Amino acid sequence: MRKNIVAGNWKMNNDLAQTETLITDLKAQTQTSNAEVMIAPTATNLWQAYQTLKDTSGIEVIAQNMHFAENGAYTGEVSAAMLKSVGVTTVILGHSERREYFNETDALLAKKVDAALANDMRTIFCFGEELADRKAGNEEAVVEAQIKNALFHLGADAFKNIVLAYEPVWAIGTGETASPEQAQDMHAFIRKTLADTYGAEVADNMSILYGGSVKPANAQEIFSKPDVDGGLIGGAALKATDFYAIVNAF
Ligand code: PEP
Repeated sequence: MRKNIVAGNWKMNNDLAQTETLITDLKAQTQTSNAEVMIAPTATNLWQAYQTLKDTSGIEVIAQNMHFAENGAYTGEVSAAMLKSVGVTTVILGHSERREYFNETDALLAKKVDAALANDMRTIFCFGEELADRKAGNEEAVVEAQIKNALFHLGADAFKNIVLAYEPVWAIGTGETASPEQAQDMHAFIRKTLADTYGAEVADNMSILYGGSVKPANAQEIFSKPDVDGGLIGGAALKATDFYAIVNAF
């Protein structure tokens, strides 16, 4: 079912003590919206975060990345089974920083998505065009290719465990935001792309998040658009009051 979701991607920020402090601050906030709330701490702190939040908070602890293999000779990597063993059942895949700095391709991401689904994990699948693509008018073609290459080998049922996150690369961490109209146009295009292949039910039930410099000041306008079902939040997720101002913007 289509849900409103606000997920905070902490990236490589916050050691264990800082994670505990931010979680304490998050627990002190009041949620007035119906959005599902998620935070993605760094891998070393997932277990502690899960233990602290699991019973009462309504905040889901999710992972920023995982490997496609179950286990084996992949130094430095973490598998789906390992994430599940520390209480994590949702993973962000395909973030533009993973694509850019760790050379993650659509083909690799397809394998990661398969591994997540095989382990009954929900995937927040990220994609988005670069500034040059938008300047050239190619943003829809780029986004369509990213989605199709990584996801369109799946059957319709798999999409129940997928959330899409449109994150134009030029808006991530730059302070520059897609206008609410640009976000709406792209989200409508993504929904249509899904509908064309998988039908209206899959498309209508898909939660499509926007990411890229969402802040308390612009969240409400972006979230008011009919095809925007929430946000993936970077910088503003590191301050509890800002994050909850965004959560409560629905
Ligand atoms: C992100 O990294 O997913 C993101 C949206 O970052 P920011 O909100 O800082 O632009």
